[in-house]
Amino acid sequence: MIDAEELAARNAGFAADGRAFAGLKLMPSGGLTVIGCVDPRVDPCDVLGLELGEAAVIRNVGGRVAPETLRTLGLLSKVTQSRTGGAGPGVTHYAVLHHTDCGITDLAAFPELLAEYFEVPVGDVDGKAVIDPAAAVRLDVEILKQKLRPGVFVSGLVYDVATGLIDVVVPPVRVDA
Ligand SMILES: [Zn+2]
Repeated sequence: MIDAEELAARNAGFAADGRAFAGLKLMPSGGLTVIGCVDPRVDPCDVLGLELGEAAVIRNVGGRVAPETLRTLGLLSKVTQSRTGGAGPGVTHYAVLHHTDCGITDLAAFPELLAEYFEVPVGDVDGKAVIDPAAAVRLDVEILKQKLRPGVFVSGLVYDVATGLIDVVVPPVRVDA
């Protein structure tokens, strides 16, 4: 187990020369938000080679665009408005990152839990494709296309935990007005 002392020691190494974080802004410098899974093998910053400050990352079970995810995005858009004075979009690319061997597939045996998560009737849980990451990422991209403001781009990626590679299932699509 990594304890707090260990975390503090590792952090001291991170903070030591100040270069890792100096001058970073709240708005992601890569204009990117990633929605990914909590799985420790699939940290978006690692598997996508992102640097500190480049992307905002939302992680939940499965990397799903659930109602809670949309509420979080709504809050973030308010923060963006506040920080940019409405001048810039802040984030222009939203990438949904799902992966193979995801733990959400184990939850298919518990449709009532998934119904709560997705805030849908139990009978609609099958439609959320939790056992098929490529299908799920397509569904979630569609939801974002309905909910995000026009002009931003949405993409859907599936990471393979065996090869370390992503498959761009949905190349960036522009949200229409
Ligand atoms: Zn997962």
